[in-house]
Amino acid sequence: MARTRLVAGNWKMHGSRPANRALVDAILKGLPRGAECAVCPPFPYLAEVAEQLRGSSVALGAQNVSEHAQGAHTGEVSAAMLKELGCRYVIVGHSERRQIYGETDAQVAAKFAAARKSGLTPILCVGETLAEREAGRTEDVVARQLGAVQFADGVLAYEPVWAIGTGRNATPEQAQAVHAFLRKRLSEDTTIVYGGSVKAQNAAAIFAMPDVDGGLIGGASLVAEDFLAILQAAGTKGK
Ligand code: PEP
Repeated sequence: MARTRLVAGNWKMHGSRPANRALVDAILKGLPRGAECAVCPPFPYLAEVAEQLRGSSVALGAQNVSEHAQGAHTGEVSAAMLKELGCRYVIVGHSERRQIYGETDAQVAAKFAAARKSGLTPILCVGETLAEREAGRTEDVVARQLGAVQFADGVLAYEPVWAIGTGRNATPEQAQAVHAFLRKRLSEDTTIVYGGSVKAQNAAAIFAMPDVDGGLIGGASLVAEDFLAILQAAGTKGK
């Protein structure tokens, strides 16, 4: 996969049919050029959002995927199902999945492989907690999380746990340092995005860093104006 600028919105467990329709409508109307845009709604809305995105350049993504292909896995959703619904991307190993639902490195690796096998592009999330950062273990943690996965044909998202949903983003320099560390472990053309309290106000400074290729956006992806401003910042990087 070629290195691209990507801004993906992780809606988490938010939305409703009318709210989604209005949000996607506003994104499509205001979509700037320059960066690829993806939205990742909750599972029940994927089909309807796919329909709304049809014919546009905005990609669809899911927030999670089962590591299993099919069978007796109540409540789970397979990669083939996501592919059939029109997803291009799927987020794997988000810190909320790791922390709240106990996903292990091995499970995340299996999810990554299952996604690739079905032709999806996994967005692998890695990131340290505040305690890990303060103990000087950031590089150990992200190297372990990345090393657990047979990484190929995916997007990597560096998401420091302490920055997610907290309003406290990594500084551009902190993000750059970890992205550069991660890039050394990957093929040169890997897209590496940053996630963690990216807002319209701080996006340009973070995206200006040489190894930051865009963002995985939580809260700000639910507000069309903010999400569009972030897309604009990614699209104009280096100009
Ligand atoms: C996320 O959930 O991946 C995320 C980065 O959230 P927020 O932008 O709200 O910090």
